Amino acid sequence: MNKKIYDIAIIGAGPGGYHAAIRAAQYDAKVALIETEKVGGTCLNRGCIPTKAFYSSAKLMEDIEKNAKNFGIDIIGEIKPNFGNAVERKNKIVNELISGIELLIKQRKIDLFYGFGSIVEGSIESGFFIKIEGKEITEIRAKRIILATGSKCTINPSFNIDHKHILTSDDVLDFNFKTIPKSLLIIGGGVIGCEFANIFRRFGSEVTILEYLPSILAIEETLIIKELKKKFNLMGVKIYENQQIDKIETIDSRVKAYAHKADIKSEKRQETEKNMYEADLCIVSVGRKANIQGLGLENVNIKTIQERIVVNPNSLETDEKGIYAIGDVTGGVMLAHVASYEGDIAVFNVLTDIGGFDTFHVETDYFVVPASIFTALEIGSVGYKSKFLEDRNIKIRTGRFGYAGLGKAKCMGEEEGFLMIIVDEETDDILGASCIGVAASELIAEIALAMKNKLKINEITNTIHSHPTLSEMVMEAAEDVYGLSIHRKRRRIKEKIDLKEDMIQKFTKSEHLKKYGLIKLEFTN
Ligand code: FAD
Repeated sequence: MNKKIYDIAIIGAGPGGYHAAIRAAQYDAKVALIETEKVGGTCLNRGCIPTKAFYSSAKLMEDIEKNAKNFGIDIIGEIKPNFGNAVERKNKIVNELISGIELLIKQRKIDLFYGFGSIVEGSIESGFFIKIEGKEITEIRAKRIILATGSKCTINPSFNIDHKHILTSDDVLDFNFKTIPKSLLIIGGGVIGCEFANIFRRFGSEVTILEYLPSILAIEETLIIKELKKKFNLMGVKIYENQQIDKIETIDSRVKAYAHKADIKSEKRQETEKNMYEADLCIVSVGRKANIQGLGLENVNIKTIQERIVVNPNSLETDEKGIYAIGDVTGGVMLAHVASYEGDIAVFNVLTDIGGFDTFHVETDYFVVPASIFTALEIGSVGYKSKFLEDRNIKIRTGRFGYAGLGKAKCMGEEEGFLMIIVDEETDDILGASCIGVAASELIAEIALAMKNKLKINEITNTIHSHPTLSEMVMEAAEDVYGLSIHRKRRRIKEKIDLKEDMIQKFTKSEHLKKYGLIKLEFTN
């Protein structure tokens, strides 16, 4: 038994856990961080980062094929994808980031234990005892616990995942996976499925996506999905929607997936047409489930529903006082940055409860959660989608601007896609935005900042955007809400009375000028 009493023990060192550990250490807490595999979790080892390394290889390949010649670059010889090299590059990036996180943990004097952590017993009064089964078995004691054990791929027994022909995303992102199949079936047209479809198609596979819902990426804006499907179609990615998979099997090294229409009632299933899809390899990406096995939840008073940890949605505390849970293990929005954000919330609440730290109680706020999808065209979105608002009879106005109208995008050879902004018709509050095209996820960040700070749409249009940049699209789309985009022909909406107010504000001197004086602009070379 380690004699030290930690302020916080964090189980799981993914983007939720390691972020929380560093944040707590910044506020002078004594922190233990426990990880059974490698720091960085799913995100770094078999999620966000490896897929984005592959995405970058795929994108570069597209750029070379599409643009090299007319950009004035002659390629002498054949352009050939080399997936093995892309895998080596991906592995190097992952290893470098793991070392970086380990160094940060060390610099912050966080005690990192490699091993499987579980709660043995305890309470907020006595502290909690945690067993760590690594090379040796250790027990530590902490005043509070944060559970950040993440999630794993859902395994459906009838999908016969053999990790050879029928794979999960973990298999594909493994350090040693270097196969580009001639044909590939992807079960599940969600974010992960659509990202893999783009990567493998660019590296030469014939790709077919089978999706259960009426549409791939069903939660995105209809117009955005339409644009992505157009692109997938051009690339030759086949998409079959409304397909319920009954079984997947491997016969003579070929994978066969049997499906029927998903919207058929069970009593009619016998009569309905059955489809069979065949390929060399299959990736199953149909969701993830929380990692709670062996955590010792039964030794304390932690409730689970559908195998995920139940928390107070405001404080992130579980039913056991003093134990919090963050990230994928709570089954909420499964995104790395949400896990990290929840890490901050839990740490502040934990340290404030313990007392003596310069923190305060905080509550979660999920109004502004940007999300990015790196598929055939990049997608970024934040806030509400138009259908959600229309279903609730909220009157909205939408502004839209396409990359094709931007000088910078033309120079980059990136004219596909558009950005749309949704505004409350009565208040001019920005309620959401979606973008599809190059750097979509970066462009959405400006709108996320505006929404978080409750800016009105005119506050975006009143901000000078540098030329020529992609960010001008945010300004043009914002102006388009009232038909005022300079580079899009649309009738001006006249009835908005405070537009005059807006124009006045646009030309009013900033308060900062009075305090700091005029910024001298120099254009030097
Ligand atoms: P995890 O990252 O899963 O980390 C949990 C950690 O806890 C793991 O390291 C695990 O080994 C450890 N652990 C589990 N049990 C124990 C135990 N008992 N003792 C000790 N350690 C334990 N999100 C995005 O925001 N952007 C993306 O582009 C994106 N792409 C993705 C692509 C793929 C293919 C996948 C699968 C996911 C992707 N995600 C993406 C989702 C993102 O990876 C997760 O939402 C995020 O990693 C969740 O963070 P976490 O800290 O909650 O859990």
